[in-house]
Amino acid sequence: MDAGTVSRWMHESSAAIAEQRDALTALDAAIGDADHGTNMSRGFTAVEAKLADLDGATPGRILTTAGTTLIGTVGGASGPLWGSALRRAGRALGEEETFDADGLVAALEAALQAIVDLGKAEPGDKTMVDALGPAVETLRTEVGAGRPVAEALEAAHAAAQAGAEATIPLLAKKGRASYLGERSIGHQDPGATSTAMIVAALQRAVAAEGS
Ligand code: ADP
Ligand code: MG
Repeated sequence: MDAGTVSRWMHESSAAIAEQRDALTALDAAIGDADHGTNMSRGFTAVEAKLADLDGATPGRILTTAGTTLIGTVGGASGPLWGSALRRAGRALGEEETFDADGLVAALEAALQAIVDLGKAEPGDKTMVDALGPAVETLRTEVGAGRPVAEALEAAHAAAQAGAEATIPLLAKKGRASYLGERSIGHQDPGATSTAMIVAALQRAVAAEGS
């Protein structure tokens, strides 16, 4: 995997989020302030524009720049959270031109840790952590068991998707949705939903590698 992989990841994320922008905003309308789709879509559109200037950059540099761009363009909580995640993932990849499955696991572990450090959410708090946590855990296990990385990412995406759906019955403990208390129950968390899309985008970006 190389710079092409991460730049495809960012393009795939941007396309998927743009496509689901209204659905994400509708989820946020139920338990937040109805801006999650527009926030993430604005951020990733800016990331795509930045990628055009990053010809020849390392994978790590692409991710740190994408993260900085999200932080700079998204007003809501999701910008700094996913922005720090991508910055930390980029730093984990270092200056190398390529990375392997273990490097990818380390980068995603770093991304999750950045979100937890900044947002202080625990598993079950009805946040993006409930999608990214299971995804990272599954990826680590599958890669550790020797599964090819594209297959390991399919399993990781299934875990992220299941984690996002499992936020429906939860009571929100972090972010705007927590202001609703019991009324946050019965709705899927928007950030967990977009996070599952970003994991799916990574799976597609890596699967495209061989073709
Ligand atoms: P805002 O809540 O500022 O309007 P968004 O609507 O873009 O920002 O993003 C909301 C999402 O951010 C939530 O659905 C949740 O997944 C995530 N989120 C909010 N606070 C936290 C936190 N402290 N830790 C992790 N994720 C969080
Ligand atoms: Mg919002």
